[in-house]
Amino acid sequence: MIGAHPDDNDFRSGGIALKYIQAGHNVRFLSVCEGCGGHHEMSPEKIRERRKGEFKAVSELTGIEYDSMNIPDCEVIADLETRKKMVRYIREYNPDIIFTHRNNDYHADHRNVALLVQDASYLLIVPNFCPEVCALKETPVIMYFYDGFKNPVFQADIVIPTDDVIDKKYEMFDCHVSQVYEWLPFTNGVLDQVPTDPKERLEWLRSPKVPRDGTFLKEEDLKIFIASNNSEYREATSAIKYRDKLIERYGAAGKTTLFAEAFQISEYGKPLTEENIKLLFPF
Ligand SMILES: [Zn+2]
Repeated sequence: MIGAHPDDNDFRSGGIALKYIQAGHNVRFLSVCEGCGGHHEMSPEKIRERRKGEFKAVSELTGIEYDSMNIPDCEVIADLETRKKMVRYIREYNPDIIFTHRNNDYHADHRNVALLVQDASYLLIVPNFCPEVCALKETPVIMYFYDGFKNPVFQADIVIPTDDVIDKKYEMFDCHVSQVYEWLPFTNGVLDQVPTDPKERLEWLRSPKVPRDGTFLKEEDLKIFIASNNSEYREATSAIKYRDKLIERYGAAGKTTLFAEAFQISEYGKPLTEENIKLLFPF
């Protein structure tokens, strides 16, 4: 997973990452930025160190490897030097599948990371480009994280239920203390609502909770999440929006799935076929 910032991969693909780990696969989260930007009180040096500690905590909790390209936050540029860095990086890791941002996004870092992966995708197999690292035989499958941007609208090609890993996914979020309990509430104007007790604040992060009594949720119910800026409704968004996809893939079980993650196929990666869907999404 290639995200711009230290918590992007957790939020957008933490559930599927946990499922890969449970199935015995290797998962690496690459944060292109070092995480020095996201705080309203701490200096870049202090917040960078703190965020390193936070993603180390997630790594210890989950078994997901973490790495960073150590580019300062808000300074990712899709230039030639960074393109080469990305090509070398992906070749060295040699993944079967990459997950990353789409090109249209509110944050320049997200957009530029998407562009870097897109620019790298074909060059991965070109031996004369960055010849110091062996070219790959084929480009990996590339998937885009879900986002709510509308121009163009996200297309849910693969939707994976995350009910079985949702508690652990929240434990991952809970490790990103400086973000989920400080910076993001600050930017959303709700910092004064965050409890100080660790158990209470995790409960706050999940609230309002998604009903477990079989209530059928509709897209208009997501207004709860939009109003509160956190809550379990964030994690339920893809299950609610793409219910038909869940039913198509999982039959009756898809009707009662509460939480899910959705991904769009990038046309610049290796095509996703009936055969490699079974291999890459064995859930
Ligand atoms: Zn981000």
